[in-house]
Amino acid sequence: LAKDEGRGIFKYFSDDLTIAARRRLNLEALLRRALANQELKLYYQPQVDIASGRIIGAEALLRWQHEVEGFIPPDQFIPVAEETGLIAEIGEWVLREACRQGHAWIAAGLPVLKLAVNLSSHQFRHGDICATLKTVLQDTGFPAQRLELELTESALMEREAEAVLILQKMRDLGVGLAIDDFGTGYSSLAYLKRFPLDVLKIDKAFITDIPQNEDDKEIAAAIIAMAHILRLKVLAEGVETEEQIAFLQRTGCDLYQGYYMSPALPATDFAALVQRTA
Ligand code: C2E
Ligand code: MG
Ligand code: MG
Ligand code: MG
Repeated sequence: LAKDEGRGIFKYFSDDLTIAARRRLNLEALLRRALANQELKLYYQPQVDIASGRIIGAEALLRWQHEVEGFIPPDQFIPVAEETGLIAEIGEWVLREACRQGHAWIAAGLPVLKLAVNLSSHQFRHGDICATLKTVLQDTGFPAQRLELELTESALMEREAEAVLILQKMRDLGVGLAIDDFGTGYSSLAYLKRFPLDVLKIDKAFITDIPQNEDDKEIAAAIIAMAHILRLKVLAEGVETEEQIAFLQRTGCDLYQGYYMSPALPATDFAALVQRTA
């Protein structure tokens, strides 16, 4: 790609660039500025204990509000951030901001037991994620035991032996580990057994069509049973209906996230929701 040959070269290629490629380039430039201009925000989506109906924590989700482009969804800019390496800076900002907020909530007496943060595979593979974690936890005073890092199957699959070592080191710091979007990648039993994980998050693709879809019901039930054999807690993503909650209750699923309780909210709205429902 022209990109690898140096910056100034882009203008010679611009006639050939597809609209998608242009949008990407544009996004990269915008994203660099977003970080500097504090256009990135963290929203918080409740994680709910299915047995009690109580909010036990939240997943921090990135939001980008650009003053001209408007709202740009993470599914569009995270991949660009990954490819350009910008995710290292963005990811560290996310960790620090979530821990800062979490510490402020603890200080204010808000009963938020756990904050989950997404780690991209780039963050996991490049740089020293354990050193970053240590520094951020120290600087913010947020207890490691209340932080949970979400990794995807693809981040764990390549160079598996090395991945196990990094996970072990992260675990030694006291943080929890979750596998995100389970079922959409390799979904291998072997790695679930080998990796030191605490939580398995069933991808919303398997939850959306419950209760109508019998296959999805059986798949979800099988994943829950399997995860429990491996002593993992199970969280269902994308829960939107009462029927889905009832099904998950019957099958012994531990936790859920979804619009049924709430979408991701700005920090103050999340805190208000926790207080209202505590
Ligand atoms: P994810 O980590 O699997 O996050 C769950 C996504 O499902 C979120 O989308 C959330 O808003 C959405 N969701 C939650 N409940 C429901 C529901 O009931 N129905 C439906 N249809 N959707 C629901 P969002 O916030 O757009 O994020 C998309 C993805 O972007 C995330 O998927 C994650 O992979 C990535 N992402 C977001 N923030 C970060 C971040 O700080 N760092 C990294 N590396 N990735 C992030
Ligand atoms: Mg996630
Ligand atoms: Mg997910
Ligand atoms: Mg996802």
